[in-house]
Amino acid sequence: MIKILHHGAVNGVTGSCHELRMSQATKGSQSTKGSDPSGSDPTLLPASNSHPGILIDCGLFQGQEESRGSSAADLAIDFPIDHIRALVVTHVHIDHVGRIPYLLAAGFDGPIICSEPSAIMLPEILEDALKIGFTRDRALINRVLELIRARVVPLPYGRWHSVFEEEVGSLKVRLQRAGHILGSAYVECDALSGSAAERIVFSGDLGAPHSPLLPEPAPPERADRLVIESTYGDKNHEDRETRRYRLKAVLEHALEDGGTVLIPAFSIGRTQELLYEIEGLIAEFGDGAIGVSPQGDRPRSESLTWSNLEIVVDSPLAAEFTKIYRDLKPFWDEEARALVAAGRHPLSFEQLTVINSHEDHLNAVEYLAKSHRPCVVIAGSGMCAGGRVVNYLKAMLGDARNDVLFVGYQAKGTPGRNILTYGPRGGWVELDGERYDIRAQVHTVGGYSAHAGQEDLLRFVEGIPQPPSEIRIVHGDDGAKRALQGKLRESLPEAAVVIPG
Ligand SMILES: [Zn+2]
Repeated sequence: MIKILHHGAVNGVTGSCHELRMSQATKGSQSTKGSDPSGSDPTLLPASNSHPGILIDCGLFQGQEESRGSSAADLAIDFPIDHIRALVVTHVHIDHVGRIPYLLAAGFDGPIICSEPSAIMLPEILEDALKIGFTRDRALINRVLELIRARVVPLPYGRWHSVFEEEVGSLKVRLQRAGHILGSAYVECDALSGSAAERIVFSGDLGAPHSPLLPEPAPPERADRLVIESTYGDKNHEDRETRRYRLKAVLEHALEDGGTVLIPAFSIGRTQELLYEIEGLIAEFGDGAIGVSPQGDRPRSESLTWSNLEIVVDSPLAAEFTKIYRDLKPFWDEEARALVAAGRHPLSFEQLTVINSHEDHLNAVEYLAKSHRPCVVIAGSGMCAGGRVVNYLKAMLGDARNDVLFVGYQAKGTPGRNILTYGPRGGWVELDGERYDIRAQVHTVGGYSAHAGQEDLLRFVEGIPQPPSEIRIVHGDDGAKRALQGKLRESLPEAAVVIPG
């Protein structure tokens, strides 16, 4: 019997964490019979050391990563792990890896299997997560990081890897490119237990086709059961060219009256996609003017062109990941590699300034808020729940010349979602316990998401030659999950399409 379980997606407190478990079919036992569509109550199943399993991801709830309100006790691992032989990481976003320190603290001592780029990025992202949410004790952080580095097993894409072969069954895994962020993978599991042999696929987060920098994901060659994300299960993205020109139009409009365009963005993925696209706009439009609209009797931005537009990345973490992206060009898609071959530097162009120290950050906020110098600032966090973007928001939301441009998903309850909802109506947002009126303009270019849209997800599933017998929809708002469920039921009437939990 091969079971799929979902840990922590139920109470909304934790992020992605799934389990594949072998268990002996017990005669007369309800709990091990067939597939458990709720899949969410591990107490239904015996978890003993003789029922080996693996975890796929171990993350924090989206938006929670920076809220800092959750205590270590809330996040402690609350399910059995003695039988867990390995953790497989789909990608290093915090909602997929943020609970790894808690997993180690709970005594997990197996390997952490991930792609080669993820193996480089995982300690970096966890170091940051540890500093924010776990401890300020440098020695303890270093011990945890050493432990993680020692456990990481980098697995090249497309290669089968045996995780265990035991009496009750065996399990092999293979990673395939997911096109979401650098190193992202979907996980194919070949599980054998008694007479049951199954290919079970966990999608992780899938990228949108035609997103910059990374090759798009190809559907699995086989999936008897599929666990799929649905962040954008209810939306479609604009195509690449449309959203590129929308980004251009929004930036031009935003910079017309001077002021700063603030783009809250996650450090990994979106920041690099944006830099890549902005470099492309600079290369294409070079001397083209941005915003020649008169301010009073003097055209204040007359001399602003794409070539002299300043782009600031204010985030040491984003800077670090941009460097890792730059170092790992073999994992880029053909288009991006062709640009490099032609002498372009998509992630390190001359108009780009990186701010590292906290002091420089504070100076930049103060300077830009006073000077109204036209400038694009990319700062984390992506949902405005913490990080340096908060200081910019506090200083800039009250001035109509400034603009906030959202390029990614904003989870419910985050300041980002509130700015997006109430900003255009002249509302306010609470930051660090205080109200800030929103006079800055608020825009969104939804296509800049590292997530597949509804049509992309459908194409991924429909591209599997033999439809899966069961599809489990995880990781998204309820509405998105239900929308994707409806579409999948229409297109694959034979498959059981369930939303666990
Ligand atoms: Zn992700």
